[in-house]
Amino acid sequence: VENLVRPFILKDEDYKRLMDIMLGEFNKGLGKETNPTAKVKMYPTYVRDVPDGSENGNFLALDLGGTNFRVLLINLNGQEVTMESKIYLIPQHIMTGTGEQLFDHIAECIHKFMSNHDLLKEKIPLGFTFSFPCKQIGLNHAILTQWTKGFKCEGVEGEDVVRLLHEAIKRRGDIDVECLAVINDTVGALMSCAHSDRDCAIGLILGTGTNACYIEKLENVGLWDGDYNEPKQVMINTEWGALGDDGCLDFVKTEYDRQVDKHSINPGRQIYEKMISGMYMGEIVRLALEKLRKHGLLFGGKGSEELSTRGRFYTKYVSEIESDVDDHFKNTKQVFEELALEKYSDEDCRIAQYVCSLVSTRAAFLASVGVAALLNKMDRQDVTVAVDGSLYRFHPHFHDLMVEKIQQLVKPGMKFKLMLSHDGSGKGAAIVTAVANRLRESEKESIGENGLEN
Ligand code: ADP
Ligand code: MG
Repeated sequence: VENLVRPFILKDEDYKRLMDIMLGEFNKGLGKETNPTAKVKMYPTYVRDVPDGSENGNFLALDLGGTNFRVLLINLNGQEVTMESKIYLIPQHIMTGTGEQLFDHIAECIHKFMSNHDLLKEKIPLGFTFSFPCKQIGLNHAILTQWTKGFKCEGVEGEDVVRLLHEAIKRRGDIDVECLAVINDTVGALMSCAHSDRDCAIGLILGTGTNACYIEKLENVGLWDGDYNEPKQVMINTEWGALGDDGCLDFVKTEYDRQVDKHSINPGRQIYEKMISGMYMGEIVRLALEKLRKHGLLFGGKGSEELSTRGRFYTKYVSEIESDVDDHFKNTKQVFEELALEKYSDEDCRIAQYVCSLVSTRAAFLASVGVAALLNKMDRQDVTVAVDGSLYRFHPHFHDLMVEKIQQLVKPGMKFKLMLSHDGSGKGAAIVTAVANRLRESEKESIGENGLEN
């Protein structure tokens, strides 16, 4: 068993080397000349500062970026935030259909939501959390560079997603909604935590995919083409999931990683993401378990159709299995039942648990490499990292593993905290929209003076 899963175990030096690689990629992405060939794109957002707490009003938000699509209604009133939200399903045929179908569907969901909340007659500013790699050219202009995480809608790459949304809203003609800001979920997480913690300077996602953003000094952003007014900083959406797309992670990839990539809808892309995030972790474990079984090392060699089915071993199983703390293996056996495995021993439970822990530990350590690289790069004394995503939220050890690894990798004396972000995608979008709305209102008053980007 150990021989077959050993490739998941990386040495301390490997993680150190990976951190140096990540740092190099950050700098390459930030440089004006080097960015075009960089895989980690380091997109400047148009969000320059954390909230000051004075944001208020009612806002609509959309959260699209992986497993669930949500529409939210958020009320900001100083530190008080209330929200209502509803999850709407995006059917598979729409996820891989046309852009027009996707945005018509989104507009229809907005209509339903507004109708249910008796808002059809109101005009409420909307913030759009759109969590795919985008080049932003303004606070409410974001050009999709490529789909990730199972989405592949025709005719959207290279287009401004806010324009597509506005067109779909216009096609319907029965709602009065204007999108004032488009942000990434990493920025949403950062903004929503910064609302109560001024040290928050990194937003991290560990959900369907993985990504991070952080606050960078303008002088380090070769790509920056906006103004150099105060604050001389901007949030950078790293899009670090693409690390490794040039082969720089090949020295740590396993055969299981290669298979996951090969059967994904975006082969060769998002290599780092595929080694870490929720969309892929269960599948990595399943492939390893299948391999052990085929070698007669699990379940007496006898599997099930479920265990042999791609995507059928959910990442939540990893959390459940690792949550077993005694020899009753209650959760593990439950998972085996769900997979229609008929005969299993306590030894099988122990092996499955071991495989899960190797894969999740590697994921947590790999994510730590990215966070430590950011912390070392920013070189601030105290930094709070806002973390969102079901993988981090529900896995029993992810937080502790990350704290341990980041501690090992950061410069001595540096202090950091990992803080769970609650509903960052909604609250963060509302906060950014509130600021955009205030700026717009004040612009209307002083017509034309001190222009806002976009
Ligand atoms: P998104 O990233 O799309 O906003 P989430 O943060 O909810 O959505 O993350 C969804 C991902 O989290 C899925 O890939 C799913 O497999 C994974 N996930 C869901 N529940 C758990 C759990 N209990 N433990 C680990 N991963 C989970
Ligand atoms: Mg999310």
